[in-house]
Amino acid sequence: MNLLQKCSIALLGFVLLQGCASKATWYRGNTHAHTVICGHADSPPEVVTQWYHDNGYNFLILSEHNHFIDPDSVVMPENLRAGFILIPGEEISGPKIVHSTAMNIEKLVMPDKELEVKSHIIQNHVDITREAGGRSILNHPNYLYTISESDVLPVSGLNMFELYNGHPLVANSGDEEHVSTEILWDNLLTRGMHIFGISSDDAHYFATIDSAHSNPGRGWVMVNSSELSGDAIAQAMYYGSFYASNGIMLNRCSVNRGKYRVRVDVTQTLNELISSELRGKLVEATEPGFRIEYIGYEGQVLATTNGSRADSPIKGVSHYVRPRISYFRDHPSGGSEAFFAWGQPVFTDGRKLPE
Ligand SMILES: [Zn+2]
Ligand SMILES: [Zn+2]
Repeated sequence: MNLLQKCSIALLGFVLLQGCASKATWYRGNTHAHTVICGHADSPPEVVTQWYHDNGYNFLILSEHNHFIDPDSVVMPENLRAGFILIPGEEISGPKIVHSTAMNIEKLVMPDKELEVKSHIIQNHVDITREAGGRSILNHPNYLYTISESDVLPVSGLNMFELYNGHPLVANSGDEEHVSTEILWDNLLTRGMHIFGISSDDAHYFATIDSAHSNPGRGWVMVNSSELSGDAIAQAMYYGSFYASNGIMLNRCSVNRGKYRVRVDVTQTLNELISSELRGKLVEATEPGFRIEYIGYEGQVLATTNGSRADSPIKGVSHYVRPRISYFRDHPSGGSEAFFAWGQPVFTDGRKLPE
């Protein structure tokens, strides 16, 4: 790569991180869905594709376990609309229940099944994904609590993980003995890692819809990209030009003129929250409505706004800051149900994106 190319990529990264590319559009996508090919899901690739197409998504990765589904082999919906693509990918499934999404790869990648140390296994996933032209997302760390901070920190080149996974067997919120994926994220960020949080469905069931099944429509990403293509979406996500959601939609989530600015799309969010497929988090009774928090080093809440818009200065922030947007509504249990969007961290300590 020559100097001009390096400068172009660096400039692109700066623009994307600022989220201010004026011609960029928000694209909705799911990076994690299964089909009958895996043997434990209920629908063929065409049905899975049709669901995401019909429900307003712009891109989908059919992420099968150690099996590459070439998008060209999938019969696309008869009523295919402009603005929907399949991005080639796979869920690399290695030993010790280490799984990762290989996003935008050119071919099948197979993990080294002889490895035994989890950080080595994750590193293997990252390396073979890069060799196949893709980007890695470390999946569901809290599925059976297989992945902890010490497994992730030694890995180089990893900069995305599943902060939220919609599968009912994945304990995103942790338990008495295990931290939530959000605390894991702050721990990784605080220890110096440059890592973004994504949200996905990990959907397996499209014919049976209930809270016990891993259904579609529970977790997604909104990517701010100049175009809809596998390369552009993977590149935008690599640079953190996206937010993760399990119910909340935003108009804006970016740094502009020294402030991290968040604007909720209230109408669209309330529309989303009608969906019975969403799974809120049960929390203590809380005043209904929106809340925007800015979270920084060691997971400290630096600022809180009750409402649907907020601006927080970057100057003076120690190491990093990321916004978390919540929406609370009453739940029949007597408590509240919370839904979230998570903006990506912006770093003030000069740490670099992994290669
Ligand atoms: Zn998995
Ligand atoms: Zn999966």
